[in-house]
Amino acid sequence: MSDGTPKVAPTESCIACSKAETRTVVLVEGEAEWHIAALMRFVSLPQAEASGTFRAYFGCDPGIVPRVRVACAFRLCRDCADKTGARVTEIGQSGIVYAQS
Ligand SMILES: [Zn+2]
Repeated sequence: MSDGTPKVAPTESCIACSKAETRTVVLVEGEAEWHIAALMRFVSLPQAEASGTFRAYFGCDPGIVPRVRVACAFRLCRDCADKTGARVTEIGQSGIVYAQS
């Protein structure tokens, strides 16, 4: 169930460094494993933490993840994005979406 609208976390801080009022996001669309891989690559999270972060975003119990394509916007500041090479987009703008093929 994906209408293409990214979901934005209510806490307005960078997912990697917790910098407040982060206005840039990484747009990711795909199945759960895709998001977990994106968190590992773009936020440098270990796999368990990436998996836990994804579950927290979607309210899943451990070991249970949605088996559908979902779109998500992870807040990531430009400094953190530069470290991992992630392409970030200003909130409300269209930009690069890391979509699962
Ligand atoms: Zn950051």
